[in-house]
Amino acid sequence: MRVIKVVKKMQTMARRWQSEKKRVSFVPTMGYLHAGHESLITAARRRVGRSGVVVVSIFVNPTQFAATEDLSRYPRNLEGDLAMCRRAGVDVVFAPSNEEMYPSETVEFSTYVSESFLSQSMEGISRPTHFRGVATVVTKLFNIVLPSVAFFGAKDFQQAAVLRKMVGDLNIPLTLVVAPTLREPDGLAMSSRNAYLTPTQRTQAVVLSQSITHARQRVQASPKFLLSKTLSKEIEHLIRQQPEAEPEYIEFFHPDTLVPVTKILRGHHIALAVRFGATRLIDNGPV
Ligand code: AMP
Repeated sequence: MRVIKVVKKMQTMARRWQSEKKRVSFVPTMGYLHAGHESLITAARRRVGRSGVVVVSIFVNPTQFAATEDLSRYPRNLEGDLAMCRRAGVDVVFAPSNEEMYPSETVEFSTYVSESFLSQSMEGISRPTHFRGVATVVTKLFNIVLPSVAFFGAKDFQQAAVLRKMVGDLNIPLTLVVAPTLREPDGLAMSSRNAYLTPTQRTQAVVLSQSITHARQRVQASPKFLLSKTLSKEIEHLIRQQPEAEPEYIEFFHPDTLVPVTKILRGHHIALAVRFGATRLIDNGPV
C-alpha cells in the first residue's frame, strides 16, 4: 500500500492508471476509520476486483466546518487508519495536508461548488456552509484521484443526495454508489464522532436509531398516512426521555427530492440530528 500526501503525485499516478485503462474505486473519508468506512472499502474492492485500484482519501476538510464547529477537536489517528487500510487491501491512501489542498501562498482559495436545492434543508439549515465545503472538496478529490466509481455512506443521506446531484448536474464522469449504514449491536450508527460521547451519553445515543424504528413501526401500522407533526412530537418526546439528549431537527421527507412531507407514507424517509452536550449525531432511514 502506498501513502501519497502530495496532490501532483496523486494526480500523476491517477493519469497513469487512466492511460492503462485501470478502474479506480474511491472512498473519500475524514479518517478515524471504523467498520462503517471499512464496509465502503470492501464494497469498493468488490466493484473493481483485483485488476482495479482502490484509493482511500483521509482529509479532515476545513471548508465543511463552520468556525464554531469541531474542526480542531475532530478525532485523528493516521497510524491506526493506515493499519486498517492495509488490512483491508487498499492500494493507495491519499492523505494531503491542508496546505496541499488549500494553498495560501499567493491569493486565498476562492472557488467553490454549491448545490442549491437539496442542500438547503436539514443539515443545510443547521450548518449553512457545510455542503458547499463538502461539494468543493469532493470535486477537488475527484479531479485529483480521477475515479471511475466513488463510494459514500447512506449514514450521511443528504450528503450522498447532494453529491449525486452534483455529479449529474456537472457531468462528472463517474458512478456514485451509496452503501448501507453500519451500526453497533445496539443500533447506534457507527461514526467517528461517537468517540466524543461519555459512557452515559453513549448509552442514551441509542435513541436515534430507536426513533427511526419507532417511526417505521408507526407508519407500517397505519392504514393510511400519518401526520408528520404528530409523529415528530412523539419522537421528540422519546428523545427527551434521555436526560442528555437535545433534538435539533426531526424531518420526514421524500427520499428523491428531500422535500418535507406533511403526510407520511411508506417509502418516505426520516432524518434526525440530536445533540449530546457538544456532540452532534445524525441518523436516518426509510419508514
Ligand atoms: P466521514 O469520515 O465521516 O466523512 O465518512 C466518510 C464516508 O463514510 C462517508 O461517505 C460516510 O457517509 C461513510 N460512513 C460514515 N459512517 C458510516 C457508517 N456507519 N456506515 C457506512 N458508511 C459510513
